[in-house]
Amino acid sequence: MSFADLNLIPELQRAVADEGYTEPTPIQAKAIPAVLERRDIMGCAQTGTGKTAGFTLPMLQLLAPYANSSPSPARHPVRALVLTPTRELAAQVSDSVKAYGKFMKLRATVVYGGVDMQPQTKALREGVEILVATPGRLLDHVQQKSVALGQVEILILDEADRMLDMGFLPDIRRILSLLPAQRQSLLFSATFSDEIKKLANQMLRNPTLIEVARRNAPADLVKHQVYDVPALRKRALLARLIRSRDMKQVLVFLRMKRDCNKLARELVRDGINATAIHSDRTQAEREQALADFKEGRCTVLVATDIAARGIDIEELPFVINYELPYTPEDYVHRIGRTGRAGMPGEAISLVCPDEHRLLADIEKLLKRAIPRETAEDTEDRPRRSRPAEEREPLDEAPKRHGSTPPPAPRPMIAADGFDFSKPYEPSTAATERAAPPPSRLRSTRPTAALLGGLSGKDKK
Ligand code: AMP
Repeated sequence: MSFADLNLIPELQRAVADEGYTEPTPIQAKAIPAVLERRDIMGCAQTGTGKTAGFTLPMLQLLAPYANSSPSPARHPVRALVLTPTRELAAQVSDSVKAYGKFMKLRATVVYGGVDMQPQTKALREGVEILVATPGRLLDHVQQKSVALGQVEILILDEADRMLDMGFLPDIRRILSLLPAQRQSLLFSATFSDEIKKLANQMLRNPTLIEVARRNAPADLVKHQVYDVPALRKRALLARLIRSRDMKQVLVFLRMKRDCNKLARELVRDGINATAIHSDRTQAEREQALADFKEGRCTVLVATDIAARGIDIEELPFVINYELPYTPEDYVHRIGRTGRAGMPGEAISLVCPDEHRLLADIEKLLKRAIPRETAEDTEDRPRRSRPAEEREPLDEAPKRHGSTPPPAPRPMIAADGFDFSKPYEPSTAATERAAPPPSRLRSTRPTAALLGGLSGKDKK
């Protein structure tokens, strides 16, 4: 099947050809015709399936009649609104809208928190047909009257499950109340909780259900592995895995943002090029860390679940769960970063005894047991052949090398220039203090603070 078979207009066919796409992905083949028929959609799809183009292409086509080059803001009311949980995802969706819509005279902009509102206000006041936004910042603009939503015809909720996990439901309800009742709504979610079904029932009319993977099933190409390891030995095992498997690009997940810098710093001390991305870093720092990782200047990116949302890295070969997430759905989200676009990937979890219950929940959701490896399996052969007393200990226990001189100091500057040789100073922000210690496991759904410390309006 080609994009022409989906009756896409020539402007869009040219744009996808420029992107190098030769044929639609399964979700695109299903979603594009349904959206063009102005149907509501309930889409179950992970990142990496091509869902962004699946909703963006038909959205642009439906808006094509509004294309105009008038300078008057009145000629450019918001016709389509895309809501995303994080600024990274918002920026990515906005980039896609711009790339696919580059041959059309439609205006688009993106608004998210954590950055100056002024340039966003200016763009909104000039008028845009397509607005990509995170919920809190959108409401800030609504309050300031820099945007009106009374002419929205298409609403898209991307990664709706994540938005609910992050506590955006009240914001979403407020935004829904500002939109015309007569509209087309699309809801995309990687997982289907009861809360999502409830939201879908409220906002969708007779939706077409589009599923491209088994429900709650991670990409089939991913190989899952679990290493049973005491918590104190995780870091040494991580470093050893990265070296012995010659990993060149690894996304490492932690639960708490305050631990991300610490782990990245320790890896740098181990001689591994690592950086961290989490919501305490400025937008510029996050973008720089992501660019360094994507372009191969940095081997390891340490991230919280929230900071990693929307990270789009093609062919990411390894995802390592340094800590298991509190909810099994987050495991699915995390490993959705690998095994993408037909490439095989590996999801490796370092599991300490405290986390066995979380692992059982994940295996229940996956409906299969994950193979266990032992930490010794990671040792490279020459080392294994040495007598036990000569082996490097996995943990940080005092080294038993007798009179062997201490190793030369390793580089302490990360790819993004962050100096890890400075003493680690945990953030004292209120959000951080509110977070429980990492070892405290909870059976309830995680709060935003647990997932990365969010509070207030600018939580995106
Ligand atoms: P998404 O699931 O929307 O995050 O897309 C994942 C990746 O697939 C992105 O890097 C897209 O550029 C890419 N992609 C989307 N549609 C296609 C297609 N039809 N053919 C090849 N790559 C695609």
